[in-house]
Amino acid sequence: MLAIDSAGLVATSFRTLPPLDVVRAESVGEALQELRRAKRPAILAGGTDLPARFNVGDYPDIIIDIAKIKQLHAVFIDKSELVIGAAVTHQSGSTHALLPAVIPGFQEAWKKIANMRIRMSGTLGGNIMSRRTRYEGAILLAALNAQLEFATLSGPLFMAAGDLWDAELPVASLLQSIRIPIATKPRLDYERSLRPIFTQAFYVDDTGAGRLVSATEFVRPHIWAFDRNSQSNPSPEEIDFQDPVTGTAYLNQVRAVFFMRQMTRLGLS
Ligand SMILES: Cc1cc2nc3c(=O)[nH]c(=O)nc-3n(C[C@H](O)[C@H](O)[C@H](O)COP(=O)(O)OP(=O)(O)OC[C@H]3O[C@@H](n4cnc5c(N)ncnc54)[C@H](O)[C@@H]3O)c2cc1C
Repeated sequence: MLAIDSAGLVATSFRTLPPLDVVRAESVGEALQELRRAKRPAILAGGTDLPARFNVGDYPDIIIDIAKIKQLHAVFIDKSELVIGAAVTHQSGSTHALLPAVIPGFQEAWKKIANMRIRMSGTLGGNIMSRRTRYEGAILLAALNAQLEFATLSGPLFMAAGDLWDAELPVASLLQSIRIPIATKPRLDYERSLRPIFTQAFYVDDTGAGRLVSATEFVRPHIWAFDRNSQSNPSPEEIDFQDPVTGTAYLNQVRAVFFMRQMTRLGLS
């Protein structure tokens, strides 16, 4: 019980956590059954973020390790979507041969996430399920208009990546895959030279439709719909960022500069 009293004050170790079980699920179905049975379960993918939850007082009674579930490691095209399994690591996903062909710019953007040690075990699913504004998966996936596919006991559940922040998911649910529409030939540009102060992803497709996604370390990604056809000289309206550290005027200025650079890099100006 030392764990709960001291959590947040000292970094956790196996000594500061109450005893817990660990299950290595072999299938999505098995993971869901374990989730259903457990009182305070925690899903473990790469394990690079989960310990941070222990440090702020979270103490699961069972860890359900999903890293061995083969189905969660696949990257493939299903009709008009690029499908990325939730347990695909940053390193294996961002170096997958399909990426440059179907979404130019996505590979370069994803490769920028984290250092090599984290990239080898941290997963895209874990990045987004951590629901931390300082992580970049949510920015890229919101720009790409990605859908999250959850496995639940009552069948699949779909949700836009941008809706995850406030979503209440069933306890027995597991992010299975991330589905990115590719029929309209999306292209992506990602600017993070000012991270963590400010980062921005810009997506545009062959129809001229796009999304500009702006974020700071503390603020959820803001999505602005871009339409090349209806705006002769498009420029994003100002955002009231409400960032606790960086001023709104500065952030809007950076946003506009990044946008101009991104328009140029995507051949739109
Ligand atoms: C030193 C360091 C540097 C980093 N740098 C960056 C960076 O530059 N940019 C960036 O974006 N991120 C960065 N990160 C964050 C890193 O990308 C995430 O920690 C990683 O992606 C999380 O994935 P994981 O598989 O390790 O998640 P885990 O730690 O295994 O899980 C994280 C959370 O997601 C839940 N979860 C995991 N998978 C699923 C699933 N399939 N379904 C439901 N819930 C699930 C877990 O229960 C847990 O709550 C950094 C992290 C570290 C430690």
